[in-house]
Amino acid sequence: MIPCDKCRAPAVIYQKYSGMHLCSAHFDQDLVRKVRETLRRYRIFGKGGLVAVAVSGGKDSSALLYILKNLFSKRRDIELVALLVDEGIAGYREETLRAAREVAERLEVPHRTLSFQESLGITTDQVAALDTAQAPCTYCGVFRKSILNRAAREMGALALATGHNLDDEVQTAMLNYLRGDVLRLFRLQPRRPLEGMVPRIKPLRRVPEREVALFAITHGLFPGRSGSCPNVPRAMRLEVKQMINDMEARHPGTKYAIMKGFEQIMELRPESSFQATLCQRCGEPTGNEICQSCRLLEQLSGGKAFKSK
Ligand code: SF4
Ligand code: ZN
Repeated sequence: MIPCDKCRAPAVIYQKYSGMHLCSAHFDQDLVRKVRETLRRYRIFGKGGLVAVAVSGGKDSSALLYILKNLFSKRRDIELVALLVDEGIAGYREETLRAAREVAERLEVPHRTLSFQESLGITTDQVAALDTAQAPCTYCGVFRKSILNRAAREMGALALATGHNLDDEVQTAMLNYLRGDVLRLFRLQPRRPLEGMVPRIKPLRRVPEREVALFAITHGLFPGRSGSCPNVPRAMRLEVKQMINDMEARHPGTKYAIMKGFEQIMELRPESSFQATLCQRCGEPTGNEICQSCRLLEQLSGGKAFKSK
């Protein structure tokens, strides 16, 4: 048995990047501390209100809901609502939606399900069945963000929390870098939220994926039956994931270093890196006359989204 470096109880994890063996209690403490520090940096909890949490039924967002529920249990002025999205992916989504509802109900957090079919008139399965030039994930991701933002705004939420972890964040930053589009990160995270945009927060962004998974398992939040979407893999993201994991294994701390580097780049973004306006079709915030979601929907209906033969 390897003992915890803080209390000598049996360790459940070795954090190579910190050099620490931690028992279950000290591991939880360390993870929650990282979440608290991240929340403090967002500086949005000075006043109370409603926090919408996007819950998918997977380990990350389930752990997020659990942690937020516990952190805010004494804040009577902060309410949580779980937002679930039914993208319409047969054989996959039913099961994860069920898991998401179970977690929300167990934590006594009210939940609401938003559906692609009802909001947009199209499902991800229908998009995937078309021979589109772009992967279904492109449409699915853009549509999901758009309907989550709309619902959170209409409910008057002060923030929209998502379960992105350190690995997700580092992969996204790296992907944009490898595609030669670091400016995209500026657009994704404007200094001030655009009109109509509910501030997005990622409380788990400093917690490595394997630690979120361990937390979820040890708190009974990850029944392990969620499977994966038939539309993965997103090839380049998987390659980047592999590359970063290799680097982390050889040079512990690489993920935090990449994150820190990109945070420094983000600090350099100009005050007005993004001109806000509202989409002329749907009223959602955008940098153009027509938002990306409406443009993709138009491409689909106008037949312009398809591969040229
Ligand atoms: Fe949507 Fe792609 Fe995620 Fe599947 S993997 S849910 S298609 S974004
Ligand atoms: Zn629009």
